[in-house]
Amino acid sequence: MNRRYPSLLYVFRWAVFTLLVGVAVGSLLGLPLEGLCVGLVLVLLHWARQLHRAQRWIAEPSEEPPEGFGVWGQLFDGIYLLQRRNREDRQRLESALDYLQDSLASMRDAAVIVDRRHNIAWSNDSADFLLGIKFPEDRGQPVLNLIRQPKFHQYFELDAPDAPLRIDPTTEGERCLQFELSTFGEGDRLIFVRDVTQQYRLEQMRRDFVGNVSHELRTPLTVIKGYIDTLQNVPQFEEARFQRPLAQMNEQTVRMENLLKDLLWLSRIESAETLRKTALTDVAQLVGETVNELRAAYADRDIWLTVDSGALVLGDRQELHSAFSNLIINALKYSDADQPVDVRWLEHEGRAVFSVLDRGIGIAKRHLPRLTERFYRVDKSRSQRIGGTGLGLAIVKHVATSHQAELTIDSELGQGSEFALSFEIAAREADEVPIASGPISISS
Ligand code: ADP
Repeated sequence: MNRRYPSLLYVFRWAVFTLLVGVAVGSLLGLPLEGLCVGLVLVLLHWARQLHRAQRWIAEPSEEPPEGFGVWGQLFDGIYLLQRRNREDRQRLESALDYLQDSLASMRDAAVIVDRRHNIAWSNDSADFLLGIKFPEDRGQPVLNLIRQPKFHQYFELDAPDAPLRIDPTTEGERCLQFELSTFGEGDRLIFVRDVTQQYRLEQMRRDFVGNVSHELRTPLTVIKGYIDTLQNVPQFEEARFQRPLAQMNEQTVRMENLLKDLLWLSRIESAETLRKTALTDVAQLVGETVNELRAAYADRDIWLTVDSGALVLGDRQELHSAFSNLIINALKYSDADQPVDVRWLEHEGRAVFSVLDRGIGIAKRHLPRLTERFYRVDKSRSQRIGGTGLGLAIVKHVATSHQAELTIDSELGQGSEFALSFEIAAREADEVPIASGPISISS
């Protein structure tokens, strides 16, 4: 299809030539005007014929365009070229789509595409296996009728969920599924579902193992500690050469006791079902109690308290208490004895915020992302010297996650740190009418 075409000017020249021939022949016969008309009719007839062929070809496109003369040939070939490109693009898209569908269909993860009215448009074989969604039988069915878990319904309501949803099994033999949503096109959604039962079991085994070991170690440790206490008070061991090692042994057993206590607590709160915090908790009162306890334990330290909110949050009182006290104890541990620690409970931008500010050693920025990992310490020997277990912030982080609270850490090396937990407000002290919905009990 590589013809050379006459330009538009050339085509017009042909028309003009035909008209001139008409006029010339007409003049010879003494009828120049009629000759011009005949020439005009011939040009029009030619164009009408080409138009008719073009129309027929476009209505029933055959492989090759009709032969055309001049600009008509150009037009036919141009349309033909466009058609061919179009066909090739379509074929490419179709094969890409087939390829994509084949790969999605052969995946072990379930993939379900729903339209903007939440009806199923397509799903792969694994969707049948994991969710009981069959394609094409279930095409057009509302997806929320087929995936019935309330947690999935809540997740599906979110516009752009920033993290996948994991639904843990509630009965033995049930699968643990992880859902991920992405939106594309005009509000269509792709639901990816992965079977993470194996990962869930491993996590559970690890949790149980840590919990059991910590529990088993507590009894022998209590016995050892008891004997050390006794030996420290036996007159034969009053000498410094006995008292020094006994004091060290005592110190280490206390450290181990604290470690086991934190490990047990962490494994306990990990196994408590997450996001099932339904008790309205009066945090102002809880913060007051926690500060009073710590003022008694750290009598030589200044702990300033500001309470400027009567917000109640949905939570677990014991877990919140452990998070608050861990943060306050850290602030006391990592600042000098003459420096006060500020504890605040107030509201900021529609959320209730618990914060602890110290004027202590601070933390270099590079440590911040890893600070809440278990046993991560900036300065291991310092932390051990002052009785840290390395689990405090891991506990705080876990409590934050299970309460859908946000933990923020702001710190400047040598200047001090501020740790803040921001919560959704569920109700206010005055009314105690829950803003959040769901089953609620009051705990204070
Ligand atoms: P630890 O029991 O060692 O204090 P945490 O999990 O509570 O363990 O804290 C992890 C590490 O974070 C600590 O070892 C310490 O280096 C650092 N850290 C925590 N809180 C503070 C703080 N308020 N100021 C400075 N460093 C802190």
